Amino acid sequence: MNDTPLTLSASDITHYSSTHDVLVVGYGIAGACAALEARRTGADVMVIERASAGGGASAVSSGLFYLGGGTGVQKACNVEDDADNMYRFMIASMGSENADMIRMYCDQNVEHFNWLEAQGIPFERSYHQGKAVFLLSSEGLLSTGNEKLWPYREIARPAARGHQVQEEGDSPCRLAMERLIQRCLDEGVNATYDSRATALIIDDGNNSIVGVQIRKNGELLNLRAHKGVVLATGGFVMNHDMVASNLQTSPTLEPLGTPYSDGAGIRLGSAAGAATDAMNGLIATASIYPPGQLIKGIIVNRNGKRFVAEDSYHGRTAAFIAEQPQQRAYLIVDSEIFAYPEIESARHQLIDGFESIEEMESQLKLPPGSLTQTLADYNLHAAASRDPDFHKHSDWLKPLDKGPWAAFDISYNRSSYLFMTLGGLKINCNAQVLDREGNAIKGLYGAGACTAHIPKSGKSYASGMSLGPGSFFGRVAGRHCASAAQ
Ligand SMILES: Cc1cc2nc3c(=O)[nH]c(=O)nc-3n(C[C@H](O)[C@H](O)[C@H](O)COP(=O)(O)OP(=O)(O)OC[C@H]3O[C@@H](n4cnc5c(N)ncnc54)[C@H](O)[C@@H]3O)c2cc1C
Repeated sequence: MNDTPLTLSASDITHYSSTHDVLVVGYGIAGACAALEARRTGADVMVIERASAGGGASAVSSGLFYLGGGTGVQKACNVEDDADNMYRFMIASMGSENADMIRMYCDQNVEHFNWLEAQGIPFERSYHQGKAVFLLSSEGLLSTGNEKLWPYREIARPAARGHQVQEEGDSPCRLAMERLIQRCLDEGVNATYDSRATALIIDDGNNSIVGVQIRKNGELLNLRAHKGVVLATGGFVMNHDMVASNLQTSPTLEPLGTPYSDGAGIRLGSAAGAATDAMNGLIATASIYPPGQLIKGIIVNRNGKRFVAEDSYHGRTAAFIAEQPQQRAYLIVDSEIFAYPEIESARHQLIDGFESIEEMESQLKLPPGSLTQTLADYNLHAAASRDPDFHKHSDWLKPLDKGPWAAFDISYNRSSYLFMTLGGLKINCNAQVLDREGNAIKGLYGAGACTAHIPKSGKSYASGMSLGPGSFFGRVAGRHCASAAQ
């Protein structure tokens, strides 16, 4: 994929085509936020973008930002939240490995929400109460994660934190990117398009990153950075080799990204000595909801056993299905809650309707008696609004006793699961890229999907956890890099 080395020694560079304080590689959400904040810190900024326009995967995304702590939208919708509550949930569901970054993110979340709005990104003061993966309407708030799931609901007060950009249609974040890039233009951020970053330029004297080599119109050009370089090139879902060597994916998983989500920033940073993290992390999705009523069904594996609370976030359910024998799973419903899954891209197939559970068990080739037993146990407890095995919330519990029954095949090899990568360059709270000894690499910053996410697996991800932290740490990167000594 690369026709030149990924690092170059500054001592070998004889000519720089231009010189700036800060070079930002990639003009998605992380890069735009980095560029804007670096510029506002007084830096001369150049954005290097491989495509002919900015936007990246951010512009085609569903526009959900995971924000909380008491934002204006949460307050207007009477959703109680504060920074400590948000922190408790995030630590409980993601672990404490990134506790300092999570603390910082939660503490500064209301300020970050206000900042996004101040750039012209609108968020409607309205609450979508139903279960949804994304919205085609303009409501500003919905529940997008595992906040209501056991045990998290007992550790932190559940609060909806999915903030959707106010724009109807399937790519609401296009508007956010237009607004951010317009701000960048208005405030004097420079950009070079059709320019692929091919190498980082290293000052061997003090081991710092001092520039970027780009390929533009077939020509290699060197750009000098006095203060540093921010890598914001997105994830690596479209890089077949990186996916094959890092992820244990099913061959049927389909990548979700743009052609340039090819891991360039991770490869550039790694070549310059950067550590990576969570490279085996992914979020896969083929949601059973909407409609929410399907959550009242049960999901079983090919042994006829339940293995996940059906009210989990869709990425968590998918992660558990991936661990089941042959990655097979069936959604079982009764006639009272029967509906077809609405997410068309998931292509969950109705297997059939059945007059009895025994008949279904036999047709699905489940071990004799397995599903009958699972359903009998489930119904017994559901009648008392309990789920001792998986603690599904009582909102979603009802005995599945109104035949006929139906089964949907939601296996990995039958349905269509999409996935995104979660791993990348390791950064600290200043968004500085860390080397393999844990030290910050001088002059090198990272933000967005080319860095390791705060959630490292689909089990702990929530929609909005890419755009939220990506925009936040993009800002951090821009400010810190621009304030660095030359
Ligand atoms: C359909 C879809 C829906 C999604 N919905 C959501 C959602 O609702 N909420 C959420 O949080 N996440 C969502 N995501 C994920 C989210 O969009 C991405 O994780 C996020 O946008 C990544 O932002 P980024 O700035 O890191 O990268 P990007 O937005 O991908 O930007 C990276 C930029 O770098 C450029 N680039 C790449 N390589 C080079 C190079 N060598 N030189 C120069 N430029 C380069 C690219 O062209 C691109 O413009 C969704 C993703 C998809 C595909």
